[in-house]
Amino acid sequence: MTHHPTPAHANEIQRPGRHLEETAERLARRPWPTTPLRPAINVSFEFFPPATWSAEARLAQSVEALAPLAPSFVSVTYGAGGTTRDRTLEAIRRITSSTRLSVAGHLTCVGATRDEVADVVDDYRAAGVDHIVALRGDPPAGETDGTVPGGYRSAADLVAGLRAHAGDDLEISVAAYPEVHPKAETARADLDNLKAKFDAGADRAITQFFFDTDAFARFLDAARRAGISGPIVPGIMPVTNFANVKRFAERCGTQIPGWMEDLFADLDEAPDVRRLVAATIAAEQCRRLAEFGITDFHFYTMNQPELTAAVCRILGVRPVAEAAQAQAG
Ligand SMILES: Cc1cc2nc3c(=O)[nH]c(=O)nc-3n(C[C@H](O)[C@H](O)[C@H](O)COP(=O)(O)OP(=O)(O)OC[C@H]3O[C@@H](n4cnc5c(N)ncnc54)[C@H](O)[C@@H]3O)c2cc1C
Repeated sequence: MTHHPTPAHANEIQRPGRHLEETAERLARRPWPTTPLRPAINVSFEFFPPATWSAEARLAQSVEALAPLAPSFVSVTYGAGGTTRDRTLEAIRRITSSTRLSVAGHLTCVGATRDEVADVVDDYRAAGVDHIVALRGDPPAGETDGTVPGGYRSAADLVAGLRAHAGDDLEISVAAYPEVHPKAETARADLDNLKAKFDAGADRAITQFFFDTDAFARFLDAARRAGISGPIVPGIMPVTNFANVKRFAERCGTQIPGWMEDLFADLDEAPDVRRLVAATIAAEQCRRLAEFGITDFHFYTMNQPELTAAVCRILGVRPVAEAAQAQAG
């Protein structure tokens, strides 16, 4: 009898089942687009008030493109110190009069008296807004504080004032910082400040944008351990312009991971590739967040709906008519 040497991969040849197990495991880790719709996901969209006619048209297009996704709410930002007061109100009025969306108005208290803040709230309410994103806002350049005598000193102070002014039928969201607000004395103080905002009556926190998803997971964990039980919704920034996002991130303390620099390097002349990369990064981030049990996502749309729409689609969020059809069929 001739001796046949045992091949190095003999174990695999003798145990075909192991390949099947490995393949099944690999398939179980397939990306989301191949898995069924996720009806439990809620999204919200943030817009900024336009400053020009063309920007106004862009906002209208963005709202039109994203409204069919039936967001829990959309929000319109507010320039600290009231710099966009009229434009924010106008943008809100346009959305409430042309759609059935629930609209949240952002409101900052820096540089404003309590009466001025109350006037804005009354204008918002008259425009059909019953949800405010209550913020301190940044002081003007060169100032460290920015509050005025008799004004609110912090967002927690503002939340308490809003509750006293408008009662319980007002929904209030506040800001949270997974990578710590750049002016906070310590991470702990920042967390205590978030707790103070919930204790003053906030219904939910929306986070600053972040790309280090593990930092968000650690933050959420720390918040729960600090006794914060309210919803903390991650703010997702699909990257429409990497240079701008980097500049913005530097100002607000968001880390840009090295892998992101690598991914966007040398793509200045390849806008289509850049957008595909941006959508992939944001979708992957949301997928990971969903693995942590997150079901609500707030998108910083930058008034550019395409990336947000693509990521929502990957999350299983479809236009409502289409989703109803898919369920029926
Ligand atoms: C979801 C979201 C939406 C936002 N929308 C807007 C918007 O529409 N318009 C706008 O202008 N900005 C907006 N911002 C930015 C926000 O106004 C700034 O981050 C601001 O610096 C802090 O506001 P806050 O409400 O978090 O303040 P707070 O909750 O009062 O403070 C947050 C933290 O920052 C520290 N801090 C803040 N300011 C100072 C200071 N001057 N000195 C020392 N410590 C300070 C506090 O101690 C605390 O730790 C938004 C941020 C987020 C996350």
